[in-house]
Amino acid sequence: MVGIGDNLYARPFVKDIARQGRGRVSLMTGFPQLFDDIRGIRIVKPQSSLPYVQNNIRFWGEKNNWRGAPRVGDVDSEKMEPRFISYVPENPENVIDQIWAKFPPKYQLTFDLPSPTPTSPAFRQLRGKRYVVIRPVVIREGFGTSARNPRPEYVAEANRVLRRAGFLTVGVANAGDGEAIVGDTPEFDLKFLNGELSFPELMELFRVADGVVSGPGFGMLMAVAAKRPLLAIWGARGALDNPNRIFHPIMDTSMVQNMLPTVPCPHSTGECDCDKYIHRALPSIYDFVERLKG
Ligand SMILES: [Zn+2]
Repeated sequence: MVGIGDNLYARPFVKDIARQGRGRVSLMTGFPQLFDDIRGIRIVKPQSSLPYVQNNIRFWGEKNNWRGAPRVGDVDSEKMEPRFISYVPENPENVIDQIWAKFPPKYQLTFDLPSPTPTSPAFRQLRGKRYVVIRPVVIREGFGTSARNPRPEYVAEANRVLRRAGFLTVGVANAGDGEAIVGDTPEFDLKFLNGELSFPELMELFRVADGVVSGPGFGMLMAVAAKRPLLAIWGARGALDNPNRIFHPIMDTSMVQNMLPTVPCPHSTGECDCDKYIHRALPSIYDFVERLKG
């Protein structure tokens, strides 16, 4: 549970556990800003080799103090064993349901983001403009799941149609830092493709966007948590990367438009070769853009 998406999945459960108030809660996370608004949490520094996580560990640490993992004697309970909010990456069951089984919530879960952060100067060009965040298709080092990516041309086409309709498009990636964009980089109006945005800025960018276009990954979850319209473009590895597993009834998915491959991929491996062709992709993209135009 180290990535942004994992932490978004964990947030509703951390809120619930903190609210249950069973002793102090120590949370090991590389994205403490996601838990800023939850009281009584002690943030513990994680180990991670993912560059974007490392960057945020440094960034947060400039103004905050990381805590060590609690030791026996630090807490009231006699037995103190860490419990991991986690799911099995290869298990095709819904992600939230998997966590739910381990941490049955007492209160109603809400899938969201913490309250807004101050406006970043990086976004002055966007002030007063209608813009859509676009997550280009990327591959990540040491993360063998290129099968889940959609065909890059659908993302590029969505970018073109949105720009023609008068939206600014903003591309977000962490290229060069263990991440590489697949295919030609779409022509974005504003680019943050080399990890320029801090994590709070990234949250803010999503929160205020008029819409989001993303393949499987944190972009989809961030859009849903921020309650923004999402064009979700799916690829293969369909046993794991499909709307029924990634989304859950605790999420408000009323603004999600799914574009799914015509022939669903039944596999859960990162390397299958299934066809990701989406029949009538362009009309779907136009539908999404028409709805955004309102
Ligand atoms: Zn497949």
